[in-house]
Order: sequence, then structure tokens, then C-alpha cells
Amino acid sequence: MKISVIGAGQMGNGIAHVFAQSGHSVTLIDIGQASLDKALATIGKNMDRQVAKGILTEDQKQVALAAISTSTELAAGVKNAELVVEAATENIDLKLRIFKDIDANAPANCILATNTSSISITRIAAATKRPGQVIGMHFMNPVPVMKLVEVIRGYDTTDAVTRTVVDLSTAIGKVPVTVNDYAGFVANRIPMPMINEAIQTLWQGVGGVAEIDTIMKLGMAHPMGPLQLADFIGLDTCMAILRVLHEGLGDPKYTPCPLLVQMVTAGKLGVKTGEGFYLYTAGSKETVVAPAFR
Ligand code: NAD
Repeated sequence: MKISVIGAGQMGNGIAHVFAQSGHSVTLIDIGQASLDKALATIGKNMDRQVAKGILTEDQKQVALAAISTSTELAAGVKNAELVVEAATENIDLKLRIFKDIDANAPANCILATNTSSISITRIAAATKRPGQVIGMHFMNPVPVMKLVEVIRGYDTTDAVTRTVVDLSTAIGKVPVTVNDYAGFVANRIPMPMINEAIQTLWQGVGGVAEIDTIMKLGMAHPMGPLQLADFIGLDTCMAILRVLHEGLGDPKYTPCPLLVQMVTAGKLGVKTGEGFYLYTAGSKETVVAPAFR
């Protein structure tokens, strides 16, 4: 299949990787050549790791890398696509603009999928003249490792398009699970309130960072505590998703905790800025509680 992936960030490079690894021809599109070069380098490194583990042979790696081309021009990059998967920055105005552009330039029978974490598929579909062919294809991070693809049906998504995306997800070795289009779908609607509740619990002084995460790890068998998980997702992303849940479902229980809002305002976004609930010093694998919470 000819697949175009829009956005070559954390998710886009993983999505390009798994499609190319399964024999599809991929065009990876971003606004800057630097992002594309960085994505190709990341894919190469991740495939090296797969070769070392015996998941891929060196020859298979070379074939997969050769199947990925890049473009900084959206119109040219989607003009022969049978499927487009959009994985650009989580911003509604940006996504609406991108979908208008894809719709104007991709072949009429092309399926338009989005990897959005929380934005309404129906709203994105309404920006196109083919809402029946718009669907959520929500990969998990890191894409080459995580099995789940949350397939989200918008209001108009057809059965045929859903079936194609489900079959394709299975064919690339993932486990697709189909859900309907309400704010946060399932993959964010359930964990995000848990993260928010963990931050409330911290804010109210019920427990400290280490206590809350240790209780959730040892008591609930979570691989990572909710505060550390929030740091990994990005506190700005957590806040944005909670706001989508709040607005979309109209329930005050989704209001982001004031402590979360304050940390985002202060630029403490977690791993990506080096500080959130924990400090992330280069190379250190230990979790060190941030000074604000000691
Ligand atoms: P990211 O910031 O790593 O990458 C976004 C990329 O989009 C950047 O390279 C940026 O240059 C590019 N971009 C921005 N505007 C563009 C445009 N007009 N055309 C082409 N490319 C453009 O973000 P990410 O973490 O990869 O997230 C991408 C999407 O995947 C978001 O919708 C996010 O909600 C979703 N998602 C993220 C995760 C996660 O854990 N990070 C998990 C599941 C889904």
C-alpha cells in the first residue's frame, strides 16, 4: 500500500517505521528537512536495535529503510497515497488545516486517518469532503513496541473504511480495538483522570511524589506511577487532553488540577524540559524527586 505519514516527530517516525517494516511504501512528510533527517536517523537506530535482538535481519532493515521517502511538500507527498496517517502536533486548528489540504490533494479513494490523542474525529472529518473516509488510527508510544492501535470511528466513518484500517493494523502485527468518537476515546479517557487524581492527591498533601507512585506501582501493579507517567507524556499534553475531556464531556471532574496548570505555566513539562514531578538529568535512569516536592 502507498502510505503517507504527516508529521515526523516522536509518533510519525514510529508509524513510518512499522509500515515500512511490513512492506508498505511510505512517504514521510514534515515542514522542515531537519525533522525528516532526524526521523530517518531515529528509525535507523531503532531498526539497528531490532537487528541486534533478531527481530529483523540486516537485509530486511535495508529494504525497509529504502521503502521510506521524505517530502516537505504536503500536496506532492499525498498525491498518490492510498492511506494518509496524520501525526502532526496536537492542535485542532493545525489539524483542520492539514486535513483540508490532504482532502484537496489526495486521490478520491484515499483513506484519511489521524493519530490524534484526543481531538474529535468527527470534527476533523467535517473539514473534508469525504467524512466517511476519515478515521482515528491511534498508535501508542513507542510505536514499534506497543501492540495496541485504538481505531476510532467518527460519526460518518463507513464500515468498509473501518474494516480496511482494522485489517491493515492486524497485518502490521498490531492489535486493533475499535471504539466510538467521544472526547479522549478510551485510551486517554480512563488514564487521564487517574493522572489528574494523582496530582490532586499530591496537591492536597495526602502523600508525596514517591509515596503516590510507589503505592500505584506496588499496590496496583502499574509498571510506572501516574506522576512519572505524566512526566513522560508531557504535562502540557496531559493538561490539553484534560481540557478536551472537560469541554467535550461537560463534567467538572475533568478540570485540570491547579497544580498541573501551575507547573505547565512555569515551563515544568516533565521529561522533555528536564523537570516535572521528577528531575531528569542527562543519562540518569534513577528517579529523583524534583526540588519543589522534596
Ligand atoms: P511531536 O511534537 O514529536 O511531532 C509533531 C511533528 O509534527 C513535528 O515534527 C512537527 O514539525 C510536525 N508538524 C507540525 N506542523 C506540521 C505540518 N503543518 N505539516 C507537517 N508536519 C507538521 O509530536 P508527537 O508526540 O509525535 O505527536 C503527534 C501526534 O500524535 C499528536 O496528535 C499526539 O496527540 C499524538 N499522539 C502522541 C503520543 C505520545 O505519546 N507522544 C501518543 C499517541 C498519540
